[in-house]
Amino acid sequence: MITAQCLCGFAELADEEVMDHLFAVFEPDDSTGKDGQVHEELAGLTCSCGSTAVTAGELEDHFMKAFTPGDAVGRDNKRHGPPLPGRYSDSAVLLTGDAR
Ligand SMILES: [Zn+2]
Ligand SMILES: [Zn+2]
Repeated sequence: MITAQCLCGFAELADEEVMDHLFAVFEPDDSTGKDGQVHEELAGLTCSCGSTAVTAGELEDHFMKAFTPGDAVGRDNKRHGPPLPGRYSDSAVLLTGDAR
């Protein structure tokens, strides 16, 4: 199992993943992304903005990209994200700002 950590010092535990942690700090109460659209999971891996994903991980990726601010500073005013981009590919995309 990969040991995943967040820039803020959060370390992944058995029952709490870094991804869950990131959602907790970045997801706005109204689910509105930085693009101004509402991103909420609908049935069949579809997002309320109209995007569809093939896998649950892809949908999470999509949410993360929509909710993560450019400076990666969360609601608690700390920076969050994987400390080593590329170490786990799903989230590396967020930090490098690659558009897919
Ligand atoms: Zn969306
Ligand atoms: Zn964090």
